[in-house]
Amino acid sequence: MKKGWDQLFPPPPSCRLCSTPVSPGLGSGIWDRICFSCRKGLPLIAPPYCRRCSRPLGERKEEDLCSGCRRSPPDPLDMNRSVLRYTAFPKELIRLYKYRGRERLAPTIAELMAEVLLRQGWRGDVITFVPIHPDRLRERGFNQAERLAKGIARLVRLPLRPVLERIRPTSPQSLRSRRERLVALRGAFRLAPPPRRIRLSNRTVIIVDDVYTTGATMVECARVLKEGGAKGVLSLTFAR
Ligand SMILES: [Zn+2]
Ligand SMILES: [Zn+2]
Repeated sequence: MKKGWDQLFPPPPSCRLCSTPVSPGLGSGIWDRICFSCRKGLPLIAPPYCRRCSRPLGERKEEDLCSGCRRSPPDPLDMNRSVLRYTAFPKELIRLYKYRGRERLAPTIAELMAEVLLRQGWRGDVITFVPIHPDRLRERGFNQAERLAKGIARLVRLPLRPVLERIRPTSPQSLRSRRERLVALRGAFRLAPPPRRIRLSNRTVIIVDDVYTTGATMVECARVLKEGGAKGVLSLTFAR
């Protein structure tokens, strides 16, 4: 059998984010396939962070809840975990992925998110994603959260279900506070009608999105899911 040039002299593995060669043989995890300079730009959220919303805590506190979570009453979203802080480089990656058609970033982002999910040991029953309005979907051509959720579901071996739909194209970007955004989002989502509707009772749903800002979107999605019978709602986001 004739061997191809690439089999005899395989090209050096390249960074999954910027394509520069990385030194091979360090390990097989996703972080081993990201070059040193990209890694420097990805600020992992490591302890101490708020056990409810994942906000990094400056110093170790007696109570491991951030000030926002301590102030706000329990809401339908049980917990959020984010992989990274939303600094310049993650922001740029999301911009390239979402608005510049750099779809090949999706598997890498999904793998980084799946790794966090597995490390958390969450016992979810089903993976879903924050839906976008049909108008927005036509504009953008794809739902960035759905694509990430699909990759994550495959990696963690959970079923992916489009449980929610967006019925109002609210984009309350100008509203800063969580409370204002929550009010603006009220009624923006509903459970998808049959045949997409699934039984939610006694199930824990893991909902995926790219960015967690004030958490209002996730809280509103969680409210709809819990009204639909979900036992637990956890959110997994790339950056916050
Ligand atoms: Zn790189
Ligand atoms: Zn918090």
